[in-house]
Amino acid sequence: MEKKDLKSMMYDEVLEEMAQIGLPSFRGKQIYSWLHEKLVPEFEQMSNLSKKLREQLEDTYICESLKPIEVLTSEIDGTQKYLFQLSDGNVIESVLMRYKHGNSVCISSQVGCRMGCRFCASTIGGLTRNLRASEMLDQIYRIQAMTGERVSNVVVMGTGEPMDNYDNLLRFIHMLTDEHGLNISQRNITVSTCGIVPRMYELAEEKLQITLALSLHGSNQEKRKSLMPIANKYSITEVIQACRNYFEKTGRRITFEYSLVGGVNDTEEDVRELCSLVKDVNCHINLIPVNPIKERDFKQSDKKVILNFKNKLEKCGINVTIRREMGRDINGACGQLRKSYMDRAKGEEA
Ligand code: SAH
Repeated sequence: MEKKDLKSMMYDEVLEEMAQIGLPSFRGKQIYSWLHEKLVPEFEQMSNLSKKLREQLEDTYICESLKPIEVLTSEIDGTQKYLFQLSDGNVIESVLMRYKHGNSVCISSQVGCRMGCRFCASTIGGLTRNLRASEMLDQIYRIQAMTGERVSNVVVMGTGEPMDNYDNLLRFIHMLTDEHGLNISQRNITVSTCGIVPRMYELAEEKLQITLALSLHGSNQEKRKSLMPIANKYSITEVIQACRNYFEKTGRRITFEYSLVGGVNDTEEDVRELCSLVKDVNCHINLIPVNPIKERDFKQSDKKVILNFKNKLEKCGINVTIRREMGRDINGACGQLRKSYMDRAKGEEA
């Protein structure tokens, strides 16, 4: 019989499951707490359970625990990038960013990605598989356990398209914000999407207090299409309408992410179009100087161009920030560390 993934089960499901194997409810509570509060990586360490019970759990369930195989620390800002191995041998990456307001972890939602955005390293090898809730949670759990520092913010902005793994994403959010687990506030969670419109409407109906970030990157349909294949499926008008709906249903302001690519989407015309596109949306724009990857020849916009872009947006009355580049010296951009690891592994095989 295939072992069940106990760490992907919600609180009530764990109690139910444990009742079915004949355990009193306090045992189920203890086990949930070991997994999601005390963050132990294996059943063996659940020291208030009998040896017999620990062995029984071991025989029946998986205690998903990611193995750190590389940790890089930025000398510039203390950002840490983690390369984790999953139990099937796949590798994913996560990032810990230390801000004044607390620690933020950026997690991956899939192994690889099938969205094909032109400037992104995560999509180059395509999609391997979705991550389960336990594998998303454990990125945060391992980082908190290894550093001994509390994680207060989580952004789902690593490798993968979270809306392409929707059911596991929702399960993950419910468990991360559960009072029996890390109890992270919904308001401290951001989910970033390339714009899968039907899922954005579904998410709005969940009435969560999480922030939705939309990767916009283009100020009109043509530009967006040239950078993001998903725009062939859902037009820019539909995507913006889905953002408006998200705000109406949840009261949560939308974040637009706009990666500035030198000479591609950073002109005067782009900023004018962008202003009129979003000016009646309750939003915040996050400008990201594109992080050049070696597989593509995109370049960062000049510093002056970036500042001018920001000023023009502000003049339109739009709330805007330039994303600080965290961990530039450690393959900071999405998917770069995993990609370089896989290239190295291939090199060793050859
Ligand atoms: N699939 C989701 C989340 C992952 S990417 C999404 O598309 O939103 C997180 C953000 O980083 C997205 O806005 C993405 O477009 C952006 N990004 C990816 N590679 C980048 C790069 N090399 N430079 C700048 N931004 C990049």
